[in-house]
Amino acid sequence: MEWLQKIDSDYWLIEQDRGNLTVSYRLKEIIFSEKSTFQHVMIADSYDFGRMLVLDGVVQTTALDGHIYNEMITHVPLFIHKNPEKVLIIGGGDCGAAKEVTKHVSVKDIHMVEIDELVVNACRKHLQEVSGNLSDPRVSFIFTDGIEFVKKTEQTYDVIIVDSSDPEGPAEQLFEFEFYQHLKRKLKDDGILVCQSQSPLFQANITRNTFNNFQELFAHADVYYAVVPTYPGGFWSFTIGSKSPINISCESLVDVNTKYFNKDMMVSSFKLPQFLAKKIIY
Ligand code: SAM
Repeated sequence: MEWLQKIDSDYWLIEQDRGNLTVSYRLKEIIFSEKSTFQHVMIADSYDFGRMLVLDGVVQTTALDGHIYNEMITHVPLFIHKNPEKVLIIGGGDCGAAKEVTKHVSVKDIHMVEIDELVVNACRKHLQEVSGNLSDPRVSFIFTDGIEFVKKTEQTYDVIIVDSSDPEGPAEQLFEFEFYQHLKRKLKDDGILVCQSQSPLFQANITRNTFNNFQELFAHADVYYAVVPTYPGGFWSFTIGSKSPINISCESLVDVNTKYFNKDMMVSSFKLPQFLAKKIIY
């Protein structure tokens, strides 16, 4: 675990982001640390970010700001849809996205397809600031590869949320055109797909590719963003697609008890700075 270092009496998590950037977190305590078939899973308590989920040395979500990402990846597509009943989440092992989806009373079924059961078990037990322990009976956990699941399932969904880790290892194919083609087939005619599409500053090629792929596949494709301090640069993108034209407004919004998302965020997150408005010109 080269990313964990003891300096004097403290443990530091030294996160290497694609080799060019290092972000270090001073830790109070390592709460859980185990290797699964897919990755090393750690929950640590840090000084400024509180408890955090770390996969293979990369911070995925924290008690400080996990809600920002999870609220924005869920409530935006769920409110655009207006009457979502059946929701698929691919990835999302920290359970924060599923927790947000359960706040929608129209939703009857949430299928959460996560490759790594150890992530879910660790987060439900040790990261309840994000997972909320998640015991809603509408949530079904399916522990398998999201790529295989979408190829085989005969189910269709109102909203599909791809809450993946970075495009490396098991998540690599979750950023490919072929996967989005499968997802499109699993969407109902008025269904909405949203994917986290990485940092538009440091991984502009991924944000751009995701948007280009969505434009090719969907009648409506768009990018929106949120500010998530945990992710390098803070600035994070989401790409959304729909088979039918959609209207981004806050008219149908009801209060869902959030800390970041609100009516204004719903609309303003699509008001893009110039480089993003031109769909990533960096
Ligand atoms: N919000 C976080 C971020 O953007 O860094 C990521 C949330 S969540 C922890 C990502 C999850 O995707 C992980 O738990 C990982 O195990 C899961 N995952 C990666 N590849 C997958 C695949 N092929 N199928 C299903 N889940 C996958």
